[in-house]
Formats: sequence, C-alpha cells, structure tokens
Amino acid sequence: MSNCLFCDIVDGKIKAKLVYQDEAVVAFTDIAPKAPVHVLIIPRKHIVSVLDIDANDGAVIGQIFHVAGRLARELGIAESGFRVVVNSGADAGQSVLHLHYHLLGGRQMTWPPG
Ligand code: 5GP
Ligand code: ZN
Repeated sequence: MSNCLFCDIVDGKIKAKLVYQDEAVVAFTDIAPKAPVHVLIIPRKHIVSVLDIDANDGAVIGQIFHVAGRLARELGIAESGFRVVVNSGADAGQSVLHLHYHLLGGRQMTWPPG
C-alpha cells in the first residue's frame, strides 16, 4: 500500500529496530516508547484497523498474539505483566492506519486506560 508508514517499514523503505519477523508478521520497537518495553506487532498485509479484519485473517491475527507472548518472554515482561493494545479510530487515538498491536510492559499500569 502506498503512503503507508508501516507498509514502508515492512518493505524496508523506512528503518525500524526489528525484534521479530516471519512471513506474516513484523515486530519493531516503537519510536516514542510509552513504557520501558514498547513493541509494535503488525501484519505484513495492509489492514487498516480492527474494522477491516476479515474471516480469512484469522491465522495472521493468531500469529500476532503468539508473537506477543513470545516477545513478552524474550523481553522480560512475562512474569511482571504486560498489555497488548489496539487503538481503533479517532476516539482511541489511532494515528497510523495500518493495524498494529502495542506490546507494553516494564512498569505499573493504571486501569481504566486514559
Ligand atoms: P497509534 O497511536 O496509531 O495506536 O500507534 C502508532 C504508534 O506508532 C505510536 O506509538 C508511535 O509512536 C509509533 N510510530 C509512529 N511513527 C513511527 C515510526 O516511524 N517508527 C516507529 N518505530 N514507530 C512509529
Ligand atoms: Zn500499510
């Protein structure tokens, strides 16, 4: 997809600190981390938001959650706890229109989220 920041990261046109990649999923550190561990996990396929996930996307969405658990262990936040967050649309503050899962950890978090 042209004019998509995260597609450009998938394609290597924009540099990011990759922490995981496979045929379906790429994960990289957030450029403006909101916690000591802040990784974005995205499908290689351009999907705009949760609203655009279709029934055929089950495998990639499952893989994203599998990768979230794997990275939580690797990055040392599995025991202390972590969040996997997807912002969707304006009220939630989605700023990049390519589906991404925030993996956040390494500090105490509050609930409900702001
Ligand atoms: P959203 O606000 O859409 O839920 O999350 C977008 C995230 O992308 C933000 O946390 C922001 O810091 C991150 N981000 C924006 N531009 C870049 C970039 O060029 N590189 C990386 N690694 N992260 C980015
Ligand atoms: Zn994209």
